[in-house]
Amino acid sequence: MAAVNTCSKCGKKIITGVRKYQGKYFCEHCYELAMAEAQQFEEEKQKLILFIKDLFSIQECPEVVLYAIERSLKEGKKLSGIKGTLHYYYNIKGNAPDNVSYIGTVIQREYNNACQHFEETKRIRAANELVDLNVPAVTVKIKTTGARQQKRKYRMEDL
Ligand SMILES: [Zn+2]
Repeated sequence: MAAVNTCSKCGKKIITGVRKYQGKYFCEHCYELAMAEAQQFEEEKQKLILFIKDLFSIQECPEVVLYAIERSLKEGKKLSGIKGTLHYYYNIKGNAPDNVSYIGTVIQREYNNACQHFEETKRIRAANELVDLNVPAVTVKIKTTGARQQKRKYRMEDL
């Protein structure tokens, strides 16, 4: 049982205060970090669930949605990526949020598209900043079509 004396994160020998978390041993410092990370993750997850509830105007997040999130995380997707995907599909592309149980499919199908979209946006923004830093903000009106007829104002630098 040599592992008890070695921190599974930093690999240092633990002199005092061995901590155990999820079957692994940590030194006090790494344990604190792991706890903070776990808490941050949990908060981010709650924010995602809140975002979904707001988006679909529902009180409770159905099991099938929580399951879809867990599955996506197991596949290596990130919480921020999942949120970004939903933002991309429903807010940017303007698809009507009328069926919350469809979220799992949306995440699976649109995740890479959303990543690409945000990469592209970042690249364009960086290119624009490079060209001229002194151009004042331009307001563009975009009419969305489909179920959600809304006028939105986009600032160029947010695109
Ligand atoms: Zn450590």
